[in-house]
Amino acid sequence: MPKIDRSGLRPKFWENVPLDKMTRPEWEALCDGCGKCCLNKLEDEDTGQVALTRVACRLLDDETCLCSQYPIRHQFVPECIVMTPKTILDHMYWLPETCAYKLLHQGDKLYDWHPLISGSPDTVHTAGVSMQYRTVSEAEVGDDEWEDHIIEEPI
Ligand code: SF4
Ligand code: SF4
Repeated sequence: MPKIDRSGLRPKFWENVPLDKMTRPEWEALCDGCGKCCLNKLEDEDTGQVALTRVACRLLDDETCLCSQYPIRHQFVPECIVMTPKTILDHMYWLPETCAYKLLHQGDKLYDWHPLISGSPDTVHTAGVSMQYRTVSEAEVGDDEWEDHIIEEPI
């Protein structure tokens, strides 16, 4: 079962360490595990507007909302994005509003349901923020049908 390792991190690093000064484990631990960045999106070429669909990358685990092959994912999905403090600005326009990286980049605080604050990886699910049990796999839905699966971002 995939899992985000949140052990051995500096206390409240998300409040006092800038994104570009975080260690790799801290950076990885910042992900709330919502799974929303692993959904396929539709982008309007004219307006640049992005619509989220519930059609998930074939490697997304719908129960944990984590990548089932995270360390070796590029072997299967070469186009999967590697977000870093340097590239986050390029991704701001499509990242979900609740994404921890987006929130901190904007100078906002993490929500109480964030696992770093609650101490449990489950709170992102119980708060209804994650995609748990809400996705369909891209392996089962053709590109031409994505439009039928557009969703409003869960809170
Ligand atoms: S949207 Fe942000 S917080 Fe949610 S899974 Fe993706 S990187 Fe993590
Ligand atoms: S390869 Fe893994 S991390 Fe990348 S989009 Fe797919 S499920 Fe998400």
